[in-house]
Amino acid sequence: MKVLVVGSGGRENSIVEALARSAYKPKIYAAMGNLNPGIRRRSVDYFLTKETDVQAIAQYAEDRGVDFVVVGPEAPLAAGLVDELYDRGIPAASPVKEAALLESDKAWTRAFMARNGIRGVPRFKVYDNLDDAFRYLKEYPDSVIKPAGLTGGKGVKVMGEHLKTLEEGKAYLEEALRAGRVVIEDRLEGEEVTIQAFVDGKNVAPMPAVQDHKRAYEDDKGPNTGGMGSYTDHTQLLPFMELDDYKEGVEIMKATVEALKKELGIAYKGTLYGQFMLTADGMKVIEYNARFGDPEAMNVLTLLKTDFVDVCQAIIDGSLDKMDVEFEKSATVCKYVVPKGYPEAPLRDSPLTVTEKPEYKVYYASVNERDGKIYTTSSRSLAIVGVADTIAEAEILAEMGLSNVHGEFHCRHDIGKETLIRKRIEHMDAIRG
Ligand code: AMP
Repeated sequence: MKVLVVGSGGRENSIVEALARSAYKPKIYAAMGNLNPGIRRRSVDYFLTKETDVQAIAQYAEDRGVDFVVVGPEAPLAAGLVDELYDRGIPAASPVKEAALLESDKAWTRAFMARNGIRGVPRFKVYDNLDDAFRYLKEYPDSVIKPAGLTGGKGVKVMGEHLKTLEEGKAYLEEALRAGRVVIEDRLEGEEVTIQAFVDGKNVAPMPAVQDHKRAYEDDKGPNTGGMGSYTDHTQLLPFMELDDYKEGVEIMKATVEALKKELGIAYKGTLYGQFMLTADGMKVIEYNARFGDPEAMNVLTLLKTDFVDVCQAIIDGSLDKMDVEFEKSATVCKYVVPKGYPEAPLRDSPLTVTEKPEYKVYYASVNERDGKIYTTSSRSLAIVGVADTIAEAEILAEMGLSNVHGEFHCRHDIGKETLIRKRIEHMDAIRG
């Protein structure tokens, strides 16, 4: 069996590790924008390419005769890689371009969910002109402004936080409208929760809930990043969350998949990522992604007990209902090692050494390797994942891993620690009243 994995981050390294554990012993091929040392050592062959070069990657897959493809990042999905693969008769455990609309057009997704009567959509309006948009913002100043298209996670601005006055709000509306439509929606208060699920066109097999940490510095200060780390609990819920909240999130995702099928005739196949705000009024959808999260993939794939090749085959065949997708009932804590100064002024080309030990997992992300040494780039470098019975023990293992990374780097030591988790629980208790 031959499998091609597209992408070169920590997420894709964890996808490759999950495939490498498979009893089918698949030959792993990789198409990467950047040479990832963790992926390279598991693959029989790799191809360095722009990850949106659909034709080149599809040709590589065809030439190598791969049985199926797993696509990690969003850009190749939006560029139509999966559609091109299917045209060449190669299946993928990732969605086609039209299904990836859920990620690439927030205005479309909000409207689609609302007209299909799907729960969990905050009050919202979509605008294409400043006068109407600003009139609405004046009426509902406690809002969030989102450009409708892909912005690499940087387009969302919250009134009262990033935008202090109505005038700042107006200026941002004007800027965002130059790129296309904007969504203005109610500002939600609560705790953020990620639920990822394997989807085969109709069946939804959910994974443990994860909490990511977007802010660069400890105590949730500083600019937003691609994600500094994340954790899961052995219960597969989060410490501030009830089983009913999780079930509500999964039901919303199921309803979304069903509506895609009913309204557009699209069978969503792949991983669906739901980012939710757990509010006093239940689970609200912040956004969908058409792929695993990074870091969240590393938490859940490390725990996946079911053979990942079987899961991918079931996604492709539409037979997820015929299997139990199981995860170890352990907690995980993932912490990213990032260049010093990340994200604003990352120190590039700075040497890092990491000692791998059985007590923790190391997933490589964006590093350059020369003469057996690794060096930082401007993006996140590598991640350490601790797995144990409790979050506290998993956190200790993640820290053990960090103590075996040497060089100039930054990381958030507070992720998974008791103090931060207690704050989350108290925050949620205060919101629920
Ligand atoms: P997104 O790019 O949609 O993931 O949004 C980025 C961040 O903006 C999220 O992680 C939230 O922290 C915040 N955000 C997005 N939508 C809302 C909302 N309706 N209310 C409050 N915060 C939001």
